[in-house]
Amino acid sequence: MRQGRPLAPGVAVARAYCLDQGPVHGPARQLDPAETPDEIRRFESSCAAAAQELDARIARATERSHQQDTDILHTHRLLLADPVLVEKVKSAIRDRRLEAEAALRHVLEGYESQFAKIRDEYLKQRVADLRCVVGFVLRHLQGRQSSAPPFGRDEPVILVTHEVLPSHLLLSQHLRLAGILTEVGAETGHAAILARSLAIPVLAGLPGILDEVRTGDMVALDAQEGHVHINPDFEVQTAYRRLQQAEANRQDRLAGNRDQEPVTVDGTRVELLANVNGPDDAALASQVGAGGVGLYRTEYLFLTHPGMPNEEEQLATYRAVVEAAPGRTVTIRALDLGADKSVSYLGRRDEPNPALGFRGTRLLSASPELAQTQLRAILRAGRYGRVSLLLPMVSALEEVRWAKGMLDDARLNLRRRGKPFAEDMPLGVMVEVPAAVACLDDLLEEVDFVSIGTNDLIQYLMAADRTNPQVAHLCEPSNPAIWRVLHRIIGVCIGRGKPVTVCGELAGQPQSFLPLLGLGLHRFSMSPALVPLFKDLVRHSNALEARAVAERLMRMKTAGEIRDCLAEETDRLMLHSCIKF
Ligand code: PEP
Ligand code: MG
Repeated sequence: MRQGRPLAPGVAVARAYCLDQGPVHGPARQLDPAETPDEIRRFESSCAAAAQELDARIARATERSHQQDTDILHTHRLLLADPVLVEKVKSAIRDRRLEAEAALRHVLEGYESQFAKIRDEYLKQRVADLRCVVGFVLRHLQGRQSSAPPFGRDEPVILVTHEVLPSHLLLSQHLRLAGILTEVGAETGHAAILARSLAIPVLAGLPGILDEVRTGDMVALDAQEGHVHINPDFEVQTAYRRLQQAEANRQDRLAGNRDQEPVTVDGTRVELLANVNGPDDAALASQVGAGGVGLYRTEYLFLTHPGMPNEEEQLATYRAVVEAAPGRTVTIRALDLGADKSVSYLGRRDEPNPALGFRGTRLLSASPELAQTQLRAILRAGRYGRVSLLLPMVSALEEVRWAKGMLDDARLNLRRRGKPFAEDMPLGVMVEVPAAVACLDDLLEEVDFVSIGTNDLIQYLMAADRTNPQVAHLCEPSNPAIWRVLHRIIGVCIGRGKPVTVCGELAGQPQSFLPLLGLGLHRFSMSPALVPLFKDLVRHSNALEARAVAERLMRMKTAGEIRDCLAEETDRLMLHSCIKF
């Protein structure tokens, strides 16, 4: 048995399908100068073949209206046509006299070391798209079409690969993807986020797994506990199949609560909302019975788009999200790009502390055209449902006043152009910077609601970069400072009668549910896949008891005390719930 790091939960027992898309190693032959023109032609014709393959895939994905897939494939197609990338490979063939395969590897390694310096995990993971494109070309260089898996469409398979790539998830159109094992990978990679929304278990952190497993081997994977067995004996297979069956039963039971009301045993109604990146996630939110979309991160559209999406393109995507969302209720967040999350068409900035840098509302206020275009598209999308607008990374009152001024301008523009839009769109702020907590009363004078972004709030509050493993423990939700600040934010919002939601990862952690409920929080926004579990938790909890837990927790002074208390209360709650872990 090997132990890995779960990136997306679930259990699977199936045969392995190994995709060796990792960097191709092996001795490289030095070319004779006379051979280089032919080698460049070989590279060019492989690129053309790879482009054809991608075009065909884009056409298939478009036919099936798989918006997310189409976006990813378009990104790959653009990368493949990137003249800088192509020229780098050609000059490595010409100047270093490398074979095309080795030249591609050389260029990829150059990009990998540049990307490794980027501190933003999400962006860092985008090098995965580049690896995928290099993989396409390598396959064609080696005379291989993308190899059809040696399985029937209905046979479940566990994909074994160096790193989970967004394109791997497209494989789920052609075969039954039961799980994924990878050598490397990070929670915030967009492939991992997609896998979670597709409910495909993923286990990462298994170096050398590609050397241990062969296509056709039997694999038992538990991405709850992080265990994987290769060619397990009959007893282990049976045990994992039981676990898988229990998990399937649990999901069925949970799916059954789709139409049930999220109300506690003592009658407190809780809103379970979904965090989404686009129309597909919004549709999933409807399927699982979420109460609406609590956070629509619009960055995904910009990060996967070749240039800045124009007003009509943005409107089309926002409208699709609104129309797919439960009750057509969506909180659209204005763009939270910036620092390392920059897109090439906005220009790249090098900042010494990107997380403390030029991002979110700060970036928008310096790019009025970008802000205006997005606000107009959001106002227009507001006509198709109940849409609210959320401002990210707010740290001062002036930023909210600036946004309101921009909204007035956007409305004026739309009126002049005769474009219909939502006249009364509620405006909210993300509270994720400690300065916003300090000035919360003033901010609340200006806005209609608040959403607490605990991912950023915790890292700024604790001055601890959550991507740095040496300080990650400080970001755990057991620190008393975190709970005291949450207590204050929720209390002030309730006191002012302003709706407050938690939309950071904390909202989707079962151990934080009772204390948050006890502090008076009634709006939780999380990955759609977690909604059924939380509905069950809500329906087995008691708001009065939750209050007692929160009061007890507020008196605690150390992380250890809080950790013990949360573990104990979660165990008790799970015991009451019909779901056994
Ligand atoms: C947060 O910071 O908690 C949040 C929801 O925003 P993001 O994760 O997009 O920074
Ligand atoms: Mg944030």
